[in-house]
Amino acid sequence: MERTTDLIDVAKLLKKEGLVSDGVNKGSISLRLNKTEIAVSPSKLSYEELNENNINIMNIDGSAISQPSPISRDTYFHLKIYQERSDVNAIIHTHSKYALALALANKEIPFVIYGMKQHCGGKVDIAPFYFPNTPECNEAIIRYLGNRNAVLLRNHGLVCVGKTLKDCYETAVFVESLAESYVHALQLGAVEDIEKWKEVNYG
Ligand SMILES: [Zn+2]
Repeated sequence: MERTTDLIDVAKLLKKEGLVSDGVNKGSISLRLNKTEIAVSPSKLSYEELNENNINIMNIDGSAISQPSPISRDTYFHLKIYQERSDVNAIIHTHSKYALALALANKEIPFVIYGMKQHCGGKVDIAPFYFPNTPECNEAIIRYLGNRNAVLLRNHGLVCVGKTLKDCYETAVFVESLAESYVHALQLGAVEDIEKWKEVNYG
């Protein structure tokens, strides 16, 4: 079972690997500690400053269990995902460069390489824009994420989920790397969904 210290380690790794930028506008990360308790990164603190004493612990219903730091507005869509997806134990939200480029251009990532099946559970859809922390925004994230592991948020960024923090981190890295290749590929020409090859190759 992963703990709050693992969340802090992964947050720092996201920073080190360049998936989040400097300062406080860094996205957010959370971990299900047990059936009802969620550890979530706070607002107004950079990932370098995170320690066991400043991580907020929330009840899945939205009440605070231990709130040493300001609550990030992202907290509520994290909680909504945990409420709707019992298989999800970790969530990473980033504004990583290439994922954000696709989000700004309103482009989903179709099922274009086979590895997407393992990491993303299929294509990476894009949710329409709603102002953050509104019921409409949280509902759209749930709807466009579906039962998959990653969703782009139009004009905003990326949300990845996983059974474990490790899985979730790997998906966040995978999607950003894929987004980079996909952005370049789109400049070279059309990129085809690989679903069609199933019919071509296997009849
Ligand atoms: Zn954000």
